[in-house]
Amino acid sequence: MIRVNCCLFLRVLALLTVVEATKEKVLQQIDGERVDFCVVGAGPSGLQLAQHFQSTSASYVVLERGAGAGNFYTKFPIHGTLISINKKYTGNSNAEFNLRHDWNSILTSVDKSNGTDFAFTDYSDEYFPKSEILLTYLNEYATHFDLQIAYNTEVKMVTRESEASDFELKLEPNPGFDLKCGIVVWAGGLGMPRSFEVS
Ligand SMILES: Cc1cc2nc3c(=O)[nH]c(=O)nc-3n(C[C@H](O)[C@H](O)[C@H](O)COP(=O)(O)OP(=O)(O)OC[C@H]3O[C@@H](n4cnc5c(N)ncnc54)[C@H](O)[C@@H]3O)c2cc1C
Repeated sequence: MIRVNCCLFLRVLALLTVVEATKEKVLQQIDGERVDFCVVGAGPSGLQLAQHFQSTSASYVVLERGAGAGNFYTKFPIHGTLISINKKYTGNSNAEFNLRHDWNSILTSVDKSNGTDFAFTDYSDEYFPKSEILLTYLNEYATHFDLQIAYNTEVKMVTRESEASDFELKLEPNPGFDLKCGIVVWAGGLGMPRSFEVS
């Protein structure tokens, strides 16, 4: 058990190093430029979208305030066990049927009839796996597909002058420019309502 946790720790450490380098690279590339699609959040939704954009000619960037992908799963579920099932052995060879029993995998653009070629089922045999395994899977997915993600980057504000103009994103920390985006996709997960005092 200790060996497994130790390996996981080393894998996460290696990923965080990659993450820092990636962040620098991604922000340098987009400096002063316009991006077709800006995706806010590198949770499962943001990663899935990024993977699809990656296989098109569109330019995109994912902005993630956490230090890695799947930031939500660094804290939740509090008890550390996923509530999404990982039924690895279904006794069925139909890829679509099997995918219905694998609630954690993110799809890839490669041959959809074969389900996914980067399956979460390869990461765990447990029916209800630990959330740290999903965290590892999501980060390895992002690295494997070389997704354009700027980590440790929070979107503080989204504005647009008119319906015809690009969106402008204020980022924190400020990279020295406001990011211009044709389309913004908010994949920021569960949000808390903001209340304003009106007097
Ligand atoms: C308590 C709880 C437990 C859950 N357990 C499970 C489970 O076991 N299995 C399961 O499949 N689903 C579970 N869910 C549902 C789960 O949240 C979703 O399935 C999944 O995480 C949603 O993915 P997402 O990418 O839409 O959002 P999230 O995973 O929440 O990702 C959103 C990302 O956006 C980032 N972000 C947010 N705002 C900004 C910003 N302004 N700038 C930059 N980045 C930003 C966040 O850091 C985060 O990484 C649970 C939900 C809750 C509330």
